[in-house]
Amino acid sequence: MTTRFAPSPTGLLHLGHAYAAIVAHKLAHEANGTFLLRFEDIDHSRVREEFYAAIESDLRWIGLDWTGTPLRQTDRLPAYAAAIEQLKAAQVLYPCFCTRRDIAEESARITKAPHGPEGPLYPGTCRQLSATQRSDLLAIDTAHCWRLHATAASQLTGPLSFSDQLHGTAPVDPSLLGDVILARKDIATSYHLAVVVDDAFQQISLVTRGEDLLPSTHVHRLLQSLLHLPEPSYHHHPLITDAQGQRLAKRDESKTLQSLRASGQTPKNILQTVA
Ligand code: GLU
Repeated sequence: MTTRFAPSPTGLLHLGHAYAAIVAHKLAHEANGTFLLRFEDIDHSRVREEFYAAIESDLRWIGLDWTGTPLRQTDRLPAYAAAIEQLKAAQVLYPCFCTRRDIAEESARITKAPHGPEGPLYPGTCRQLSATQRSDLLAIDTAHCWRLHATAASQLTGPLSFSDQLHGTAPVDPSLLGDVILARKDIATSYHLAVVVDDAFQQISLVTRGEDLLPSTHVHRLLQSLLHLPEPSYHHHPLITDAQGQRLAKRDESKTLQSLRASGQTPKNILQTVA
């Protein structure tokens, strides 16, 4: 079995990340499996070079070691482009020319704007364009992203489910996150696409991550089926929260491993705290 820890090098690791890494490492260790590291670094506007080394050194400090060279998603752009082409050929993507403002205005205008677990979903404006409108806009190279046509995709795959070690088996609900972006305007991929392509590439058999990402698994399972990729098992663990019950964020500098280390905490304290 193979697990992974997949941080974004957009900040220092805090206790919440340490917990996620420890869970993945422990599950791999217990099963005599492999623990891999992947840098989810496609969002170049937020990535900073120094965080790659800082993350590796923090992981080593708490005693976690990984197999091989960490994967960087920025080295994998051709694989994501190939997956996008495959999805276009399956006719489950459409180009979306909306700006954020267009989306907000359309969502306010329609009476039953779709809502997901984290707020409003894409209202579907560009899904309704005619083939001619679409090709005219593409011909004049209007800025666009590519969205998943969730209904068309689920018609193609039929009913799906995924299985989680802590949450049980759940049927995939393709409408939960709606027509998500799979290729952003600026980077031609997205978290959802890259994570699915890379979990298969790294032969991840158990995806461990925070339970805030449970809704995303519905999209990931759909993409695995559309791209004919293997289905991993899942382990969505609870999130570490602060005393007020708020999840830790990158801005909580007092909880970074580096600041805890500077204040005299030991790796053993960190393991005890997250346990
Ligand atoms: N990069 C994500 C994070 O830092 C993890 C995504 C995943 O594990 O699928 O929360």
